[in-house]
Amino acid sequence: MDNARRLQYLEAMGIDVWLPRASAYSEQPLSFEAAIDNAEPETTASTIDKWDLLQAEVANCTKCALCSTRTQTVFGSGNKQADWMLVGEAPGQHEDEQGLPFVGNAGLLLTEMLRAIGLTREEVFITNILKCRPPNNRDPHADEVENCNAYLQRQQKLVQPKIILAIGRIAAQTLLKTDEPLARLRGEVHTFNNTPVIVVYHPAYLLRSLSEKRKAWLDLTRALQTIKNNKG
Ligand code: URA
Repeated sequence: MDNARRLQYLEAMGIDVWLPRASAYSEQPLSFEAAIDNAEPETTASTIDKWDLLQAEVANCTKCALCSTRTQTVFGSGNKQADWMLVGEAPGQHEDEQGLPFVGNAGLLLTEMLRAIGLTREEVFITNILKCRPPNNRDPHADEVENCNAYLQRQQKLVQPKIILAIGRIAAQTLLKTDEPLARLRGEVHTFNNTPVIVVYHPAYLLRSLSEKRKAWLDLTRALQTIKNNKG
């Protein structure tokens, strides 16, 4: 079907067609056909396709041995166009059972931490370095991190967050490619693929060490400040 016919069909169905900005600014309005020829190929529909494809790839992933012990993969949840992207370590037992990130006790505290800075879970995008639960919640192995890395990179490209919170030591060390302890990594603004990264204590750790809550609050306010500064 040629483009002009396609446009007529879309118009008849009451579907808005996005035209290139040039037509809004040029003195001579672009002809119908010229507007179509100039249209940007990247559409919302293709972004949706990319999410669906990525989600299906993760759900069927067999790149490492964790596929044989998981109940299901945990892709991530929340706003796919969020300003804030939160990256944890790996699903635990509850996450593995429900297919959602941070739904256990640590997740409840994470929700409260977000609320403290005026955000809801639905407003941010939450995912993990690993999309499958390591048996007995052991630390991720290097090959598992390596195999899962491309999924996280693609999620970041699609979300295009303005800030990333690295939640806990494993997430921070993996994103920032370092062996530095968390205590050294927190307190400054790092970057991952040109996006600012703030390292925060893992809520599971905060549940065990309530005295560190003040530092966690400082980290969150640093993140808020960073995103405000970058918005100009
Ligand atoms: N801890 C994590 O790092 N991620 C989860 O999804 C749950 C607990």
